[in-house]
Amino acid sequence: MQAVETNTKAAVLETLNKKPLIISGPCSAETEAQVLETAQRLANTGKVDMLRAGIWKPRTRPGSFEGIGTKGLPWLQQAKKITGLPTTVEVATGKQAQDALHFEIDMLWIGARTTVNPFSVQEIADALRGADVPVFIKNPINPDLELWTGAVERIAKAGIKTIGLIHRGFSAYGNTEYRNAPMWHLAIEMKRRNPELKIINDPSHICGRRDILLEVAQKAIDLDFDGLMIESHIDPDHAWSDAKQQVTPEKLAEMLDAITWRKEDVNSEEVHAALEKLRQQINHLDDEMMQILSQRMNLAEKIGQYKKDNDITILQTSRWNEILERAFKRGEKIGLSNEFITKYFDAIHMESINHQNKIMNS
Ligand code: PEP
Ligand code: MN
Repeated sequence: MQAVETNTKAAVLETLNKKPLIISGPCSAETEAQVLETAQRLANTGKVDMLRAGIWKPRTRPGSFEGIGTKGLPWLQQAKKITGLPTTVEVATGKQAQDALHFEIDMLWIGARTTVNPFSVQEIADALRGADVPVFIKNPINPDLELWTGAVERIAKAGIKTIGLIHRGFSAYGNTEYRNAPMWHLAIEMKRRNPELKIINDPSHICGRRDILLEVAQKAIDLDFDGLMIESHIDPDHAWSDAKQQVTPEKLAEMLDAITWRKEDVNSEEVHAALEKLRQQINHLDDEMMQILSQRMNLAEKIGQYKKDNDITILQTSRWNEILERAFKRGEKIGLSNEFITKYFDAIHMESINHQNKIMNS
């Protein structure tokens, strides 16, 4: 018995080490038949490594389906028995974590609405102390890397050895193209800070709709994410939660086929040498750009001195508009988007203001 148990754990770790790691299954477990049919059809694709299902659903508004609860856990056990797919569920409390372990769920994940709350994360960590189970942690709903990091630290301190990250986008007020803005730079920064942790992407909760799942999934793969978690349902339009973003197992398989799977690296001296040469040129240009920026700041400081001597405000809106308009015009000619130019000049302008501020108030 002990040996079987150990073997199962080893097999789960081996699965988690696959790249790309593909996790799929319904937003919510609804009925036993739905879970078993989804699992079977996912297994039939031969492209899915792990079965997900929400058992307890943290819903934004009351009155929506809040999950089937503990009685759904044996359905997942059964699905694993039939298909061989290891299972994962979201846990938001210590009790849920213990229930999931009791029913031999292979991996747990902490949802975005839980990662934001250190009390909840700590409660889960305490419930897991001494347990041998991998835990993946979704980003918090707000764009705060410290909270995400804090959750990782709490779970690590409880002795959990295998920890992963799930990037599912960040909440923003007002309707945007996405249900949750991806803010890729935050996921990239989290990956940079934690190179030892796997990070997978959850296009379903970023998109909130099926039609753009593929492009977000492709972007994640292009950014060298370790895998994807994508929701699937046997009858997406009638799903009890997140109906708009789910796809059938067969559609999921089509989508996975449509992705261009890129690797972080290839085993070719020639490619390495060519890349190295281009990277050196980039480094050179970056150095030059920094040099030029420093010159620009020196000029800003000189202007600051004039403004100080003549009691003029730092910010003159008309001048700032003029700078942006000039840049947009030039940018259009040389292939730089307005979006980039706005961000770039915003950053330069702020730094410039800080330099002037130092001069004017010293
Ligand atoms: C989910 O995965 O179904 C879920 C509730 O996700 P999130 O925590 O990202 O909102
Ligand atoms: Mn969902």
